[in-house]
Order: sequence, then C-alpha cells, then structure tokens
Amino acid sequence: MINGKIDLRSDTVTVPTDAMRQAMCNAVVGDDVYGDDVTVNELEALAAEMMGKEAGLFVPSGVMSNQLALFTHAQRGNEVILPDNCHIVVHEAGAAAIIAGVQLRTVQNVAGEMPLDIVEQYIRKDPDDIQQPKTALITYENADSDGQVRDLAYMQSIKALADKYNLPIHLDGARIFNAATYLGVDVKEMTQYVDTVSVCLSKGLCAPVGSVLVGSADFIAQARRKRKIIGGGMRQVGILAAAGKIALTDMTKRLQQDHDNAAYMVKRMQEIKGIEVLAERQQISMVFFRLQDYPLTAKELVAYLAKHDVVINGAENGVMRFVTHQYVSREEIDKVVDLMKQAK
Ligand SMILES: *Cc1c(COP(=O)(O)O)cnc(C)c1O
Repeated sequence: MINGKIDLRSDTVTVPTDAMRQAMCNAVVGDDVYGDDVTVNELEALAAEMMGKEAGLFVPSGVMSNQLALFTHAQRGNEVILPDNCHIVVHEAGAAAIIAGVQLRTVQNVAGEMPLDIVEQYIRKDPDDIQQPKTALITYENADSDGQVRDLAYMQSIKALADKYNLPIHLDGARIFNAATYLGVDVKEMTQYVDTVSVCLSKGLCAPVGSVLVGSADFIAQARRKRKIIGGGMRQVGILAAAGKIALTDMTKRLQQDHDNAAYMVKRMQEIKGIEVLAERQQISMVFFRLQDYPLTAKELVAYLAKHDVVINGAENGVMRFVTHQYVSREEIDKVVDLMKQAK
C-alpha cells in the first residue's frame, strides 16, 4: 500500500523507505557544484564501482541521464542508432533534437531486439562522403520499457559490432538491476558490453528522485559540464543522494521478490474469466494482459478498481500492465484478483 492505496501503475510510484528517510535526514551535504557534497560523491563512486566504470554523475531524472549521454557522445548532426520503440524515441519529448541536436536512426524492434544486420547496414561507413551524417553512437535498453530482458549473448554481439566500427554504446539501464536479477548475474556482467550506462534510482529501487550516469572518467567530466549547461547542477543534493545510496546497496537485493510476486500475479490472474494474461512476457516486475470478453472495458475496469482504492493505468494498444514493487504484497495481489473476479 502507498498512502492507503494499492498502486499497480508503475514502479515509479514507490515512495522512499523509512531507512531512506532516516539517511536523508542525517546526510552530510555541501555544495555539489563545488564538488563539496560528500554524500553525492559517495553515491557517484558507488554507482561507478557497482557497474565497473571509472566515474558517475548524479542527475535528477532518467531522461536527463540519457540526454546527457547523447549530448556527450555525439556532435550536432551526428546519427544515433537505436530501437524505434525505445524511451529516447517515444518518451523524451523530442529532447534529442533539442539538446544534442542529433538525428535518430531508428531500427525496427523485432521481438525486443534490433536485428544486427540492419544495425550494421545503418552504420555510416564513409566519413569522407560529405552527403552523409556520421554515426556517433549505438544505444538500446535492458530491461526495455516493455519489461523484456536481453541476454548477455545479445549484448556481446552488439558490442562486437560496435567495436568493428569503433563506435561507443550507451545502455539505457533504467531497470538494469531488474534485468541482472532476471538473468541471475552481477550487473557488471552486463555493463562490460557497453561504454556508458544510465540507471534509475527512483523506480523499483524506491529512491524519491534521481538517476546515475556512469562511464569513463573523461566522459563523466565532459557530461558534468553539459549537465551544468542544461541546468542540472544542484547544490546540497546529498539529501537525495543519501536515499540513492540505499537504493543501490539494499534495494537492488530485493528485486527478486517483486519478480516472484509478478509471477504469482500471472498465475492468479489466469483464474479470472475474460482475461488473457500474456504469461510469457512476465520476466521482471511487470504483468501484461488483455481483456477478452471481460464484463468491463479497460476504462470501466480502471474506474471500478479505483472505487476500491486500487490504482491502475488504462490499456495501451489493447494491452494492460500491472507492476509489482516494494509496496505490493501477495495479500494485496489476492485482493485485486478477487475484485476482478467479482466485476459484473
Ligand atoms: C523510466 C525510464 C527512463 C527515465 O525516465 P524518467 O521519467 O526521467 O525517470 C528512461 N528509460 C527507460 C527505459 C525508462 O523506463
């Protein structure tokens, strides 16, 4: 429960834990633009160490983290190769055109993956051809916005291709710890195949605000300047970083529980008449389903559950999604399933 409601809309609805609130209250802070905030410095070093990179940069949001990656890896007019349904293309308000000034070369996502032959075809090969933009970067997500996880072999094969053309890779790892939990590997096993990573602290990891961008020391120094350009230099922000540290040290260890609860929810929801659960799509904390001859429409289901203090999103392209997190228990899942069974 969060504030008296069962909220299944997203893992972004999670509020800071009591331990986080304590740490925020007691955090040693300073002016981070001067580099004086001890707690921010600790968070950045911790994130870098966990992901096997040299340095980290704390930013207010995942969007800023991704956009700084583009802004730092690429020059204006360069091309970035990425999946057509990724967050940077679909959910970042066109920022890539405004901030980095890059051209997005989208590759159709086939079963969650960019086909490598198409990626290779899209890489610009003749830097002397004055008609062609230059390819500056390849970027993709793991886990992706649909809650699907790419395996290590796929990550390795993209890395091999990028190396062949001497291109860097940015990973949008908003939910990279969910992906690592699903794969049963240390997160470094994944990050070895990319140059920079963006990780969200405020999704399933429960921090109130923030993402960390990690990469080489040189890359992060450049990104720090660019963060200032777009107004992301913050002052006593250790207040937030204190929660971020707990997100990384403690909350990354409990994600299996959310995944198990999502699997439990899939099983229970299969009992409901008129619901088609897309069981094979449940890998992390997300459950997908369709209404098939269910007594309510998606809109009516949203309104019906809201009356019982259960908050859900409507359908997107006919598919509905429930997300489990720290504040969704098995008893609450049972309650939602029972309510859905009783709908008329
Ligand atoms: C949530 C998310 C982001 C960051 O979004 P914010 O709204 O800035 O937190 C980036 N990429 C993916 C895949 C995400 O799910």
